[in-house]
Amino acid sequence: MKCLNCNTEMMNHLIQTKKDQISYDICEACGSLWLDRGELDKMAFQVNGSIEYCSTDKVKDTSEPNKECPRCKGTTLDKVYFIGSELTLDRCRNCGGFWLDGGELDLVNKELQDIMPIKGKGFSEFVNNAHLPYWYKRVRRKSTETDFIVEVPPIKGAKLESETEYICPACGFKLNVYAVFKIKIEGCPKCKGIFLDKDELRRLKDKISQGTWQTLRWMDDEVEAVEKANAMPSKRLCPKCNQIKMISATFGDSKIIIDWCPKCHGLWLDQDEFQEITDNLRDKLNKLSSDEMKKKVFEEIKEIWSGPEAKISEILDAKAAISTLINVKIFEHPALFSTLTELSSRIPIR
Ligand SMILES: [Zn+2]
Ligand SMILES: [Zn+2]
Ligand SMILES: [Zn+2]
Ligand SMILES: [Zn+2]
Repeated sequence: MKCLNCNTEMMNHLIQTKKDQISYDICEACGSLWLDRGELDKMAFQVNGSIEYCSTDKVKDTSEPNKECPRCKGTTLDKVYFIGSELTLDRCRNCGGFWLDGGELDLVNKELQDIMPIKGKGFSEFVNNAHLPYWYKRVRRKSTETDFIVEVPPIKGAKLESETEYICPACGFKLNVYAVFKIKIEGCPKCKGIFLDKDELRRLKDKISQGTWQTLRWMDDEVEAVEKANAMPSKRLCPKCNQIKMISATFGDSKIIIDWCPKCHGLWLDQDEFQEITDNLRDKLNKLSSDEMKKKVFEEIKEIWSGPEAKISEILDAKAAISTLINVKIFEHPALFSTLTELSSRIPIR
């Protein structure tokens, strides 16, 4: 792993304490840190609950360009608000890792002392009880020896189902089948574009407007307009129709350019275009009053779990429940989508 700030080869430190094993990658030139999912929580082992939950509200006014995740090829790190505070950090939405510039760990520590119910002293506890006493036991090696790559599905949360012989219209790689929102779509494991059959986009759209969120009619016009949009011939071939050239069109009144097959009426969306669509959705949700939204989301969660008044964190098999929900409910309840994907990212993968 190379430092995202100064390009120095980073070092991986592995510390074995009595209770735990903590691993982090550090740039010894500028003090920047990479923490894989779960490591920030381990460092703050005296803190009650997880501190890796970050607000997904878009951070405004970012002067510097977003960095690329060192684990997930082609995925840029998002600027997020650290547990709802004013402090912004770089976080990967795919692998859940955090990038901390030199000195940001101190800022996190300060933030923790101000806003979290803390038994101990935040990170100073880590430094005093783990970092220093176990320093002689640390394993220090080049991060290249411990680097790994995390699979990036074309749509966040999509699960790989099978391979196909269809050819990616954008890069020529073979497409896979992914399951997302109980709908199967073809996607490219290399360039991360997706192909939606004629009715799939409409089905996704219908799922949205069936739910509580009657205000979310925004895709109606876009779906209708695809066939009427100002179109340009594209060089790309439809993956499903032999040798049929697709047509490029702008999606509704957005700036998103999609490719459309005049024969089978399938749609090709390049990487991040689907994300742009869901971000657009989230922006619209954010405009609703937050109390109104929270109340609705909480009622939904209660209804779905239908258990006693247990706290979510106390439900034993929360992870299984969450994955079920993500598969079944995700598009019916877009607000749940962001809440639940955040929740599930806080639960460690075993
Ligand atoms: Zn550096
Ligand atoms: Zn990542
Ligand atoms: Zn491709
Ligand atoms: Zn076609």
